[in-house]
Amino acid sequence: MPLTYVITGASRGLGAEFVRQLSSQGNIVIACARNPDASKELLDLVNNKTVYAVTLDTVDPESVQSAAAQIQQLAPEGIDILINNAGIAGSLGANITNTDADEYRSLFNTNVVGTSNVTQSLLPLLRKGNTRRIINITSLLGSLTFTTPTPFLPSYRVTKAAENMLGKLFADELADEDFTVLNVHPGYVQTDMGGKNADITTEVSIRGMISVIENSTKESNGKFLDYEGNTVSW
Ligand code: NDP
Repeated sequence: MPLTYVITGASRGLGAEFVRQLSSQGNIVIACARNPDASKELLDLVNNKTVYAVTLDTVDPESVQSAAAQIQQLAPEGIDILINNAGIAGSLGANITNTDADEYRSLFNTNVVGTSNVTQSLLPLLRKGNTRRIINITSLLGSLTFTTPTPFLPSYRVTKAAENMLGKLFADELADEDFTVLNVHPGYVQTDMGGKNADITTEVSIRGMISVIENSTKESNGKFLDYEGNTVSW
């Protein structure tokens, strides 16, 4: 049976591939992006019957509110699965001794506050649906036990660790309402963020993550998994 998905950051990379694969499976997909008209990749997938584009900047409260109202009109019966995919990575040159406050603020705003904004605003529609799943695309780089010889991307790693905590707290809060909230690491993927030398394609990452989402149950609530379904250490 087709499900109704909402995906943030659907203009390119992992978000656009989520839209492609989920729509080809016959689901209803509400693809949210800061500027949908600027993404030919996304517009090519939109048909306004099963795939819709909605303008949503996750860090702008007015944009989030207006998007939630549009999503309510498109899916008055509720939505099944929210995928919080939008995220930014920060500057590769920065290290823990020189990352400036503006970079921390900017990444925290997008990777944590943005995810919270969208989740809070769409909770009423998620509660109306039957499936009740929230998927946060976080990162292995937010794991406290994952170390690298040079601790690169500090602002990204700090904020992805915080986004993991955000997901865990939503999982605990919503457990009694039969929600399943997952933090998922997509692998190291060939996108603008991951770069062309990353390990896997978006096709492989998204195929894996869709399978993880489909196989998740109430018992999976609050887990941190990778795109192959392996548990990732916090
Ligand atoms: P990309 O940089 O290719 O795409 C990022 C997406 O997020 C774009 O669609 C961008 O929109 C959107 N975005 C950024 N800020 C906002 C905002 N304020 N509101 C709405 N949309 C926004 O990244 P990926 O596709 O690689 O990453 C997707 C997710 O996966 C991220 O959360 C990332 O941290 C995570 N991830 C990626 C990995 C990788 O190897 N690629 C590894 C681990 C995690 P716009 O086009 O408007 O800029």
